Amino acid sequence: MKPPDRTVRTGKSARQLARLDRTFVWHPFTQMRDWLGKEPIVLVAGKGAVLWDSHGREYLDANSSIWTNLHGHNHPRINKAIRKQLSLVAHTSMLGFANEPASRLAGRLVTLAAGPGAKSGKRETRGNRLAGPKLTKVFYSDDGSTAVETALKMSYEYSRRTGRIRPRFLGLEGAYHGDTVGAVSLGHIDRFHRAYSGLLFPSDAVMAPYCYRCPYNRAKPERADARDYKRCGWECLDALQRTLDSARKKDRPYAAFVVEPGVQGAAGMIPQPDGWLLQAIERVRSHGALVIADEVMTAFGRTVGGARDVGGRYPDEMPLFGTHQAGVQADFLCLAKGLSGGYLPMAATLTSEAVFEAFLGKYEDFNTFFHGHSYTGNALGAAASEANLDLLTEAASSRRRLELARFFSASLQTLWSCGGVGDIRQVGLVAGIELVRDWRTRAPFPLQERAGIRVCDAMARRGVLTRPIGNVVVLMPPYCTTDAQVWRMVAALNDAIVEVLGRQVL
Ligand SMILES: *Cc1c(COP(=O)(O)O)cnc(C)c1O
Repeated sequence: MKPPDRTVRTGKSARQLARLDRTFVWHPFTQMRDWLGKEPIVLVAGKGAVLWDSHGREYLDANSSIWTNLHGHNHPRINKAIRKQLSLVAHTSMLGFANEPASRLAGRLVTLAAGPGAKSGKRETRGNRLAGPKLTKVFYSDDGSTAVETALKMSYEYSRRTGRIRPRFLGLEGAYHGDTVGAVSLGHIDRFHRAYSGLLFPSDAVMAPYCYRCPYNRAKPERADARDYKRCGWECLDALQRTLDSARKKDRPYAAFVVEPGVQGAAGMIPQPDGWLLQAIERVRSHGALVIADEVMTAFGRTVGGARDVGGRYPDEMPLFGTHQAGVQADFLCLAKGLSGGYLPMAATLTSEAVFEAFLGKYEDFNTFFHGHSYTGNALGAAASEANLDLLTEAASSRRRLELARFFSASLQTLWSCGGVGDIRQVGLVAGIELVRDWRTRAPFPLQERAGIRVCDAMARRGVLTRPIGNVVVLMPPYCTTDAQVWRMVAALNDAIVEVLGRQVL
């Protein structure tokens, strides 16, 4: 593919663009000293899974622009939906007024949240068989952090009003729920969160199922996904039970359990072994706590398919959410990243009628949910989101997603030939490839060796863009990626590992 004409229409030379960035911009989650030491890649155009930089160089977007993009860049149908809405109005306030695309989108999100097959009414509506309440209300915000923050405040207030004195929260070790102070309080990644500890409220963490590095996994490392060869007695679930029991004994039960269903993203793409989520949520619910599902990364079919998929599902029965895949319904469903197809900041927190009703009352009772942002329910974002859902729920697109996940899975298996690969963890169209110094002992690279960063830099030189999490390289292709492009992503990773870590013997 050739770079589109747009690349020359920026009006500035590549050097000028790079200089503007380096002079004025402070980048997120970036050591700016390192950033200033090299020329930034300035992206100027995209089409499908391809991105172009200001020099006209072509890349593959191998992490879907930090996990947001679903159907590719510059998608004609999403572009058209935004243009159509733009010709009416770009933004009006949700404080005091409704708007058309936000109302329509809310209805569609509630339908999707009912579960696969619920709309068609097929097979006594599978959706009703999800363990948990019906989610009937949609509260909009702008980002993943704000979607979680909304669920946090709603569940706090709901629990306070329905009898608990001081609501407390439980999450998983390694959890990441965003960067606002409430979301950080629920997170448990020491490296990100320690600096702000003085600002945070306390929340508890329980061990996450991380089979590859689980102290209870007695299996020797193999050249396979650790979930497939682990040997344990589900000690992670026992640990959860003990935490819940001890909180109950102290008469300080949890108000809510916060979880990324299916796979913990920023923790290093840590997938949950089959059956873990359902059992964890059963335990949490019998404790009396609410479930906050942070599906900011996992929603919209991202985690469906691949080697462990049972297959044979009808497209309209394909679950779109990690919770549904496990057969459960949360009390709060937090959506963002992929909601607008990766086009615009748009987020939603879905909850049940019971939670909604706890905030009803007379005006002067001030039971109102006092929370909201200026750009909440943005009309352009809602229009893009509707187009995203149209694309997502088409039978052909569901089928293609499954096919692609299967091909992705097969391609990833070739990486086992790299001695520097310790674990390959794939869930649908997300994979984390953990680089290790010695796969036989699982010995990690010290972080200062920056193995993950060096491998990703070497991939960028091969025209494939992604970002590591420590020593875990993330591959997350957009759904429109072709088999040939997926193969290029995996091959670039393979070659980058050989270049950076050497050809290690198996
Ligand atoms: C990215 C992410 C967030 C934060 O979303 P932002 O849009 O960056 O605020 C929260 N939770 C999970 C699971 C995420 O992956």
